[in-house]
Amino acid sequence: MPRRVRARFRTTAITVGVAAVAVLTGTATAATGASDQRRSAAERRPAVAAERTHEVEYFTGPNGHGRHTTVPAATPERIARAQHPLSPAERAGDGDVTPIVESGSTADKVDVVVIGDGYTAAQQGDFHADARSKWQQISAVQPYASYRELFNVWAVDAVSNDSGVSGDPTQSVVKDTALSSRFWCDGLERLLCVDTDKVESYATKAPAADLVIVLSNAAKYGGAGYNDVTSRPGYDGIATASSDHPDSDQVAVHETGHSLGKLADEYVYEEYGTYTGPEPADSNISTLSTSAMAAQRTKWYRWLGQQSPDGGSVGAYEGGGYYPRGLNRPTRNSIMRTLGREFNLPGREAMIAGFYRHASVLASDTPADKTLTRRERVSVEVPASATVRWYVDGREVRSARGKLSVTPRSLGVPVFGHGHHITARATDGTDAVRDPELRNLLTDSRSWRVRG
Ligand SMILES: [Zn+2]
Repeated sequence: MPRRVRARFRTTAITVGVAAVAVLTGTATAATGASDQRRSAAERRPAVAAERTHEVEYFTGPNGHGRHTTVPAATPERIARAQHPLSPAERAGDGDVTPIVESGSTADKVDVVVIGDGYTAAQQGDFHADARSKWQQISAVQPYASYRELFNVWAVDAVSNDSGVSGDPTQSVVKDTALSSRFWCDGLERLLCVDTDKVESYATKAPAADLVIVLSNAAKYGGAGYNDVTSRPGYDGIATASSDHPDSDQVAVHETGHSLGKLADEYVYEEYGTYTGPEPADSNISTLSTSAMAAQRTKWYRWLGQQSPDGGSVGAYEGGGYYPRGLNRPTRNSIMRTLGREFNLPGREAMIAGFYRHASVLASDTPADKTLTRRERVSVEVPASATVRWYVDGREVRSARGKLSVTPRSLGVPVFGHGHHITARATDGTDAVRDPELRNLLTDSRSWRVRG
């Protein structure tokens, strides 16, 4: 299925003559079908070397279902020709990092990196304001809204020579921008592509990157999900969004359903027909009926019959993972099917688990390798749905349960003797995660040695 396809290297012969190149290019176009034919001749790169491509997901409108196509990873020739180096003054601020939300150490949080494109050196303040408001929109969606404190958000300045991005407002517009963002990518107006290597070079400047969002300076509706991207800084996937369209954040939220939640798409393509393969690994699509799921105690059986935040109750609705028949989805219409909707109950569970793959339930500014004195205060932070227990040498101090700040002395660590240690253990008791395997991610602890 499209979103599982890894980055492909489309190799076209390097050593053949000019005439042969033309023939080969023609052959490749015919073989790879409609998506290449839509691409304009100028966007098709000359067959001089291996062309790296990505499978991307895009949406034609704010309430639409997704579609997929294959696009080049690099900047197309017609845009590359317009690009010029920055002046020394502009270069000075290029790559600057500004914290938009700082919740704690990068080791304890999900680090979201927002990179702006199509903002000049003078417009970086606008970019920070756009990054802030886009994050507010994204984090208003559940389960983000309940877990805001698990996220750091870093804005990375990418200084562009031109304001605005290519393809806005019309297809022929070419702008010289840091990340080569462009609408009309692959001939599709709402498909907003970027140069993924340039994105990585900026993302690397942030203290950490678990999730990368490119904000392109435009009011036009558009975005894309690069779900086959794996990177050196460690993030999986890139989402693009236009900065000033009120609904473009929904594309990014859907894409994090793939990158963080590891969720499958719940929409279908009529032409896919009937699925006949094995049970998919994805948590939110299944070949099984509700009764088979319940009998086998598998997939989303723990949620069957429950009222879901996206409307209706959880069941097995026919159609999902692009197949209109032979695969079922948990609810009629979640955000993994249609933009602007809520995650369904299995989707929320997967998202919270995804948050905790990068973030800790328990965060503290006191490093774990620090040795404490008896009177030294240790503070911890936990989400609202979590509780903290404190232990001295492994035995719980019940009177300290729920406290967010203690000293070893207040926990009863004695004055004499060496080798004592205190431990804080936090468990998120949310009822939104039911799978015991995922619940394991919802407990964290940290210990500190105490000087005798
Ligand atoms: Zn999708």
